[in-house]
Amino acid sequence: VVDTALIQSLDSAHFLHPFTDFKDLNGRGARVITRAEGVYVWDSEGHRILDCMSGLWCVNAGYGRKELADAAHQQMMTLPYYNSFFQTTNVPAVQLAAKLASLAPDVGDRSFQHVFYSSSGSESNDSNVRMVRRYWDLLGQPQRKVIISRNNAYHGSTMAGASLGGMSGMHAQGDLPIPNITHIEQPYYFENGLPGETAEEFGVRAAGWLEEKILAVGPDKVAAFIAEPVQGAGGVIIPPSTYWPEIQRIVDKYGILLISDEVICAFGRLGHWFGYEKFGYKPDLVTFAKAITSGYMPLGGVMVGNRVAKVLIEQGGEFNHGYTYSGHPVACAVGLANLEIMEREQLPQKVHGEIGAYFAQRYAELNDHPLVGVAETCGFVGGLVLVKDKARKTRFHGDDGVGMICRGHCFQNGLIMRAVGDRMIIAPPLIMTRADIDEMMRLIYLALDLTQTELKA
Ligand code: PLP
Repeated sequence: VVDTALIQSLDSAHFLHPFTDFKDLNGRGARVITRAEGVYVWDSEGHRILDCMSGLWCVNAGYGRKELADAAHQQMMTLPYYNSFFQTTNVPAVQLAAKLASLAPDVGDRSFQHVFYSSSGSESNDSNVRMVRRYWDLLGQPQRKVIISRNNAYHGSTMAGASLGGMSGMHAQGDLPIPNITHIEQPYYFENGLPGETAEEFGVRAAGWLEEKILAVGPDKVAAFIAEPVQGAGGVIIPPSTYWPEIQRIVDKYGILLISDEVICAFGRLGHWFGYEKFGYKPDLVTFAKAITSGYMPLGGVMVGNRVAKVLIEQGGEFNHGYTYSGHPVACAVGLANLEIMEREQLPQKVHGEIGAYFAQRYAELNDHPLVGVAETCGFVGGLVLVKDKARKTRFHGDDGVGMICRGHCFQNGLIMRAVGDRMIIAPPLIMTRADIDEMMRLIYLALDLTQTELKA
């Protein structure tokens, strides 16, 4: 039995939570999550909550997987740790790298045979910056330093990760971005589509902002473009179908590298092993983390496509970069066991198939709710925008409170749904059944109705 009040007071006294107003928790107390099973988590007071955020976009295979605990236990008893710095390696790290190479579809000269490990998405994106700049140095083009990203993107919290990210609130703290990182607008049709412009027309126009930026910076100075297949933490911004083909055309035209940040979108989230498969583009580098272990152990990395790997391997000499936990044997053993579960249970295929179609169909029904401007899904991510006036599509702009009100009603009634400004987003575990989806929808409707009543009061 957990003493909730004691844990809350110790929490408040000692634990500085990420992305939290440190004084906000004082007095009120954080909700203490004590256990989890399947698609549910429980708090210390016995409330059951349907976790439609998969923790933080990571518990793709669901909670309570004994196989993953067994894999960790067995590896800890055999070899809990060893480094991979000094011409040493370990079995799970090698096997996982080979497994990832076998899962990544061949995309010509970009095909993925190599993995550079870290422990998180943020570190992996720092590694990306180092590798991309090293690549151009080795090719005798050291002036190619600029990495283009997108506004409102989230690429992590380290100095380079937060700089690649396009969140103004993060840039305002810590004098960011670091030099040679610049941003373009995100492909958000609901916000930036022009009157009379179709989503497909908008997709091409939004991709064109990349070309404009390349020309403004100077094509010979641009090293890479980084983006998520579907922007996640920025509010689940799903690009129109024309966006990625046009981005591909532009990066190819100027010969710049393409980094696909798949910390959220890989490992079945969009119905494929990797998010780039969903949209059919060809990245040079793929960032992964989170669901590689379904969140059971911290693990991340970069899949390095052959175009870049060849130069780094053949011409690079020593790469002066790495982490104590690069290729951590326990994390990699859990990653392997997790991928085995996903393969056996065909979780990516499930999202791609009948259950994914049911999820999309039920979520689309939200478009009829008076508080919803538009509700969309892509694989097992969903986003909706809350509006003041449905007919006129009037936003609650600048009023982040509305999302938090809705999130509060979700949480209060046993559903975890996240708020990003005036957008509500979900990314449920890939093991959701039809019954779980029905329950999720019932709770979303309840939260929307309660939010509407509160706003009218
Ligand atoms: N990149 C993306 C797209 C993310 O969504 C996140 C985290 O949410 C990160 C990078 C950072 O990952 P981490 O929190 O593991 O450092």
